[in-house]
Amino acid sequence: MTPREVAEQVTAEELREMTQRLVRTPSANPPGDVKACAQVIGDLLAKEGIPVEQLAVTETLVNVVATLEGRRPGKTLWYNGHMDVVPAGSDWTRDPWGGEYIDGKIYGRGASDMKGGLAAMIGSMVALKRAGCPFTGKILFTAVADEETGSDNGTVWLIEHHHVSADYAIVGEPSDGWVAIGNRGVLWLEATLKGKASHASRPDIGVNAIEYAARAVTALGKLKLAARQEIFQIPTGSLAVTLINGGTKVNMIPDRCTITMDRRMLPVETVGEITETIRQTLAEVVGKGASFELRVIKAWPPVLMDQDHPLVRALVNAFEVVFRRPPQVRGKAASTDASFIRGLAGIPVVLYGPGLVTLAHMADEYVDVQALVRASHIFTLTTLDLLA
Ligand SMILES: [Zn+2]
Repeated sequence: MTPREVAEQVTAEELREMTQRLVRTPSANPPGDVKACAQVIGDLLAKEGIPVEQLAVTETLVNVVATLEGRRPGKTLWYNGHMDVVPAGSDWTRDPWGGEYIDGKIYGRGASDMKGGLAAMIGSMVALKRAGCPFTGKILFTAVADEETGSDNGTVWLIEHHHVSADYAIVGEPSDGWVAIGNRGVLWLEATLKGKASHASRPDIGVNAIEYAARAVTALGKLKLAARQEIFQIPTGSLAVTLINGGTKVNMIPDRCTITMDRRMLPVETVGEITETIRQTLAEVVGKGASFELRVIKAWPPVLMDQDHPLVRALVNAFEVVFRRPPQVRGKAASTDASFIRGLAGIPVVLYGPGLVTLAHMADEYVDVQALVRASHIFTLTTLDLLA
């Protein structure tokens, strides 16, 4: 069988039906219950004779792990995708959980981000299995929970508690038709401004933490973020104050105000430098009048792979075979589980999926069936190349 014939062991019709089944199985996060979705995926793989297990973190947070062994021992390629989706939201003209198929497109929440990507990965596993697993080593497939809320019970849990590891990984997130060799990172920080409480009739003897927080927000907004990396869709970092919480009572001068920041970061930036810049900014703002505490809440490390890495080359070659043209190679603006796969587990990773980022989290989200078929073929050809 040629690689193309192996890839074609799964049909467009089957890929469409798998995606429709997944879209029709709601898994909105919050609350993040993916139990039914995990069952659907478990059934799809088990029906093909692919060994699969469901690993429950809680009753509703379940991760699916499947393995497909090749003909000889060798390296492991990890296919990873998330089952949870953001809530449907409003303004839909289609049923967000209907999986309607219209003019070559499947509509529904998660069609692009990323049940289509999961279906393309499952389709690739099915095709390889039907063709008799003509590769060396193995494919590890994980369909995870909790991606939209930080991955602690999904990909991070699998790495830390289940010791999932591999030589290469592909994340099937929507990639807008390009091959993504990385994503920007995210740093969540919380600063607490500390003043001194007093009766509101005597602001002169108190220290108003909200006033200091207001000055801090203004100063942080003026910070110049100079670093640039053109390969990223958004080639700079960003900083936004996204939550603020302060004060106790209308007639009290507030002694505490907390601001929470979302800092998008490039691989050339470091958590240490970013934190230090913010610390200095806050120190200038508070002067001798107040004090502050700064802490990191959570970090998604930025990822950027070398374009000459064998994993990148295999995926790019597969793209060229399927599309008959070279792909654009970019870095995604938003962070994904690739951050943990690379940053926490140290595994080389690329992102490719049939979805479009512009549709993710939007009303009338859809995935194109032709894109599903191509993505499934690209995954299969990448496997046959890397695990030759
Ligand atoms: Zn996603």
